[in-house]
Amino acid sequence: MKTVVLKFGGRSVATAQDFSEIANWIVARKKEFERVIIVISAMGNTTDELIRLAKEVHPEPPRREYDMLLTVGERISIALLAMALSAKNQEAISFTGSQTGIITCNRHSEARVIDVKPHRLISHLDAGRVVIVAGFQGVSREGEITTLGRGGSDTTAVALGVALNAVHVEFFKDVDGVYDSDPKCNSSAKWIPELTYEEALQIASQGRFILQTRSIELAKKNSIPLMIQTFKKENSNISWIRQLEFPRSQICHYE
Ligand code: ASP
Ligand code: MG
Repeated sequence: MKTVVLKFGGRSVATAQDFSEIANWIVARKKEFERVIIVISAMGNTTDELIRLAKEVHPEPPRREYDMLLTVGERISIALLAMALSAKNQEAISFTGSQTGIITCNRHSEARVIDVKPHRLISHLDAGRVVIVAGFQGVSREGEITTLGRGGSDTTAVALGVALNAVHVEFFKDVDGVYDSDPKCNSSAKWIPELTYEEALQIASQGRFILQTRSIELAKKNSIPLMIQTFKKENSNISWIRQLEFPRSQICHYE
């Protein structure tokens, strides 16, 4: 059963029209893979906007309510994406982090994934539906809604890849792969087609954001390959973050 997880960041869905564009990528992958799981972030600057709203009401918002508010951003995206896929006659269904069984510790706004129980997704995947999961969020054992820290949708994508035994996780970003310096500031930046997890973590430790650091650590622990490419065009550069240590262990490591 070939399974893939595709993660789309906030920049890929800055406007309502963008959902139709990324639906095309998804329909194409669905021809290649039997099970396709999508993780998506909040549209454009939605999360920043929600944080601004919260701070306007309370300078130190209660953490529980802060998470309750911030998770709304990703809920907007999952529902709109399911609609965009339906408009292309691709059956799809959206789930929040809690419905997906992303279990976290109870540290609001900085929660860590402690387990993933995606039972609900399986029957939909087997029925050929694309399953769309709201990134950046989970539920504590006490049943409270939590968030995984800024950029946490990357970690949602890797955690689901691990739990559902995906062949790899694809990240669709506004840059085509990983470069030795920031290609947006430096036109002579060199593209790096292959990185080990350690190399990716080292770049991240220098303050350059590739993916949420926690997601790279999680991928490393479970030897799951990560692919970075742009949503902007096809046949552009791709960077892989992986280690050639196969076969992968059958045991999932979240902590
Ligand atoms: N929307 C959240 C953020 O902006 C999570 C994410 O994008 O991964 O941090
Ligand atoms: Mg975001």
